Amino acid sequence: MRLLLIAAPGGGKGTQGELLAARFGVQHISSGDVLRAAADAGTPAGREAAAYQRRGDLVPDQIVFDLLIPVVAAAAARGGYILDGFPRTLPQAMKAAEIGLERDLTLDAAVYLHVPEPVLVERLLARARPDDTPEVIEHRLQVFADTTSPLIDYYRRDRGILVEVDADQPPEVIADEIQARLEDMSRTSG
Ligand code: ADP
Repeated sequence: MRLLLIAAPGGGKGTQGELLAARFGVQHISSGDVLRAAADAGTPAGREAAAYQRRGDLVPDQIVFDLLIPVVAAAAARGGYILDGFPRTLPQAMKAAEIGLERDLTLDAAVYLHVPEPVLVERLLARARPDDTPEVIEHRLQVFADTTSPLIDYYRRDRGILVEVDADQPPEVIADEIQARLEDMSRTSG
């Protein structure tokens, strides 16, 4: 199982990533966590990533690819992954698709967790991570709308692998719905 989760900040990618990874017996890979871990380790790439994360800006693609590809490749070799937060832009998705032809990035499905904006803001303010201040939240939501949301149409129209779910529901209900939709998908595609 190779799955990508797409959601606005606060959309529940992390929660679903963990639930689905446990259900499918594959690794949950959070790009935000991988980047934060590199920052904590104090590597040059990690320190650079941290500066972008603090402001709610996207980390440059080269850093993201350098840090994420080895993690994704290792998980693919062990049977798959639930990717949460990478690819996050059209250029990242295109490059991932290109690499995927030869390597480990070919997705079975992309799942868009849809949550109304007021609910997102409420969840983020309750979480209180360092990049969860009102100003940075507003900026991250804008970055999602401008830069990440085009991925939804890309995976729907160009790739035909999008699954959209109402993610303003209890986590287990959302996971059930995703699982059912994925089963439908694999039945119809043979
Ligand atoms: P959220 O989705 O709630 O904003 P994440 O942990 O997924 O939380 O991401 C936090 C930050 O990590 C982002 O604001 C961005 O700076 C960085 N980041 C995560 N994934 C990527 C990516 N694929 N490309 C660029 N930056 C990323």
